[in-house]
Amino acid sequence: MDETSPHHYLIALGSNRRHHRLGAPRRVLDAALVALASAGIDIESTAPVIDTPPIGPSTRRYANSAAVIRTSLMPDALLALLKRIEARFGKRRGQRWSARTLDLDIILWSGGSWYSAAPRLIVPHAAYRRRDFVLRPAARIAPRWRDPLTGLSLAQLHHRATRG
Ligand code: ATP
Ligand code: CA
Ligand code: CA
Repeated sequence: MDETSPHHYLIALGSNRRHHRLGAPRRVLDAALVALASAGIDIESTAPVIDTPPIGPSTRRYANSAAVIRTSLMPDALLALLKRIEARFGKRRGQRWSARTLDLDIILWSGGSWYSAAPRLIVPHAAYRRRDFVLRPAARIAPRWRDPLTGLSLAQLHHRATRG
């Protein structure tokens, strides 16, 4: 593969379930970053972990963070890697928004937009523009990165999402 790792991505990390060995959700996020690095991904920056209330049916609080990474992987290959790492941490299938040990989403890609049907992948992430728990950590590490759909920077999107 290309040694220069041409692609940058912003990824979102979330956990609201303890791992039997690693412990609390924020420890799971740390371990996920180590797993990404072990898979050859350059971790360029990571946001401080925030603690957020749950959405959906779960009552557990979330630990959320974001990272800017660099890799030669195209979006579909990166998604496959993220899913392998999620599976290794024990994410259960078919439990959207319920308790999960690790959720890794692709939020932004330096190449702009990506769409594929199988496996389903939409970049930028379809719902991130309204999510404080994604935008708050993301705006800490990449405030000037612009969303290709709206033209707004992460700082602007975060400001908009928290307003009123
Ligand atoms: P949400 O997408 O609203 O954050 P979720 O993360 O809980 O929900 P999952 O069950 O983790 O949803 O993922 C469902 C599917 O979404 C994944 O299997 C993947 O194929 C697809 N998907 C589409 N776009 C993305 C993206 N940008 N990043 C990660 N997964 C994506
Ligand atoms: Ca998600
Ligand atoms: Ca996900």
